Amino acid sequence: MYVGTYNPLIVLVSFLVAILASYTALDMAGRITLAREHAARRWLAVGAFAMGTGIWSMHFIGMLAFSLPIALGYDPTITFLSLLIAIASSAFALWLVSQPVLPGMRLALGASLMGAGIAGMHYTGMAAMRMVPAIQYIPALFLLSIVIAMLASGAALWIAFRLRRHSPRPGPLRSGAAVVMGLAIVGMHYTAMAAAQFPLGSICGAARNGMNTGWLAFLVTIGTVTIMAIALTFSVLDRRLHAEERFRAAVESAPIAMVMIERTGSITLVNALTETLFGYQRDELLGRPVEILLPKRYRAAHPQLRGGFFQAPVARRMGVGRDLFGLRKDGSEFLVEIGLNPVETSDGVFVLAAIADITERKRAEEALRQRTEELDRSNRELEQFAYVASHDLQEPLRAIAGPLTLLQRRYHGQLDARADEFIEHAVDGASRMQALIDDLLAFSRVGRSTEPLQQTDCTQALDNALKNLKAAVDESGAQISCEGLPTVRALSGQISVLFQNLVGNAIKFRHKDRPLQIDVGADARDDGWVFHVRDNGIGIEPAYFERIFLIFQRLHTHRDYPGTGIGLALCKRIAEHHGGGIWVESEPGNGSTFFFSLPRQVSREEP
Ligand code: ADP
Repeated sequence: MYVGTYNPLIVLVSFLVAILASYTALDMAGRITLAREHAARRWLAVGAFAMGTGIWSMHFIGMLAFSLPIALGYDPTITFLSLLIAIASSAFALWLVSQPVLPGMRLALGASLMGAGIAGMHYTGMAAMRMVPAIQYIPALFLLSIVIAMLASGAALWIAFRLRRHSPRPGPLRSGAAVVMGLAIVGMHYTAMAAAQFPLGSICGAARNGMNTGWLAFLVTIGTVTIMAIALTFSVLDRRLHAEERFRAAVESAPIAMVMIERTGSITLVNALTETLFGYQRDELLGRPVEILLPKRYRAAHPQLRGGFFQAPVARRMGVGRDLFGLRKDGSEFLVEIGLNPVETSDGVFVLAAIADITERKRAEEALRQRTEELDRSNRELEQFAYVASHDLQEPLRAIAGPLTLLQRRYHGQLDARADEFIEHAVDGASRMQALIDDLLAFSRVGRSTEPLQQTDCTQALDNALKNLKAAVDESGAQISCEGLPTVRALSGQISVLFQNLVGNAIKFRHKDRPLQIDVGADARDDGWVFHVRDNGIGIEPAYFERIFLIFQRLHTHRDYPGTGIGLALCKRIAEHHGGGIWVESEPGNGSTFFFSLPRQVSREEP
């Protein structure tokens, strides 16, 4: 047998070509998957050609690295055939990995076909030597080379399929995968070469005279690298073009006017909404300074502000804290809000300005502010009225109630029974009215109090309340427990009133079938205290949990439970006046718990 030798430099070149071919193949697989139908077919053709040529020239360069003691040459027709086989296998492989899914069976079949294709290319290439007698292949190594071709193809297909998209860092991953694939292709080739045996006295039927194999290798390498470089360059350009197209489409369909300017201040891109908003045609804006969209009084200062942004380009809002105006083509101005975004491109930094017309919003804000102010004023007037009315009504009411009570006391039984009844109604009405007016007065006083905040011992405040409720407590036989009430900074009089109303209600709305139990307590929270007054009374339907805190809202008739419907509204006012809140939890028939909160730092509402 002849002993073949290899030129190590050309072997290295063959390896590099294999890696480059693999990289091109992976890149093309990505392109095909991302491209739409028509473009996908084009990329499939380009990719198959580049990848096929790459694999084939790896093989051919490998062959040129090999020399025997006899002259060697290659039959052009058969060599060309091997190139076609390489391109066809590549086209098949690229088509396979650009499919939406790649199930195991399809991968296995694809790997076998592609492996067979590559092996076919290799052995056809060998046949191009037209050796006489024929090359003898060692069966085991021959088989091994085919197995390697299939396994390598399987791995390559799988990698290409996984890498084709959704990969966060395709660059380095793709390079690594290209090296692995390159190694596999080279491995297959040199295994196959090891399988080939050339009997002594063989003649190469295709031996040519004179052509230096080193030169041939050089030419083939240059040709191949050029083809793949062109394919890759197109791929990169196409990707850029696509990215730009997508960017333009996104800007165009943005629901807001968008204007892109370059460092000099010229407008380079506008979308449809910009035309609508500013009343210009697109070509009237492109290439013009952005300052034409600003009222004249701001123009002089703008280039400097613009320069400032380009110095430190970060996304931000423009002119925070001051009103910004846009200028329409017709000379009218409108209020705008502008967001600035730097856009880095290979041509340098651009600024993309998103411009919203906020005229309507400003108008609505202004209307809302005026309404709130009006409401505040009318609220204050109403309160003033309620206060004055209840205050002024006290006097004539006393003038009615006093004599009426005297009349009842002195003349009871001296007139006839009907007269007694009438007087009783009148006294009852007058005292109800007195209660109502007292409550109303208390209610309207909460917001007017100028009393200073003081350290308030809540146990003491509760005691004061219970003193006022003594008669009712005694009559009801209520068991009242009190635990853990803190000392807080508050208006102590108002805290007493709060407790008095809550405990008073607990007594009033007690359950007639069980002894009344009332627990008062407080829990510390990060931001203050939450107090509770818990009873085992009649309870409240959840539907009324909010309503009962509104003034004059009652759930019962006067006959069932007397009252004015002001108590809880007053409690709410007091809690809110201290910066806290009030709410209830209850189960009808099983009692209620009223909670109110007092923040640690009481900031009183302004009277
Ligand atoms: P009034 O007690 O004068 O009716 P309030 O504003 O104090 O008015 O209470 C409003 C309503 O809330 C009451 O009419 C009653 O129906 C309900 N309510 C208040 N406290 C309790 C309670 N502890 N148990 C059951 N219902 C209550």
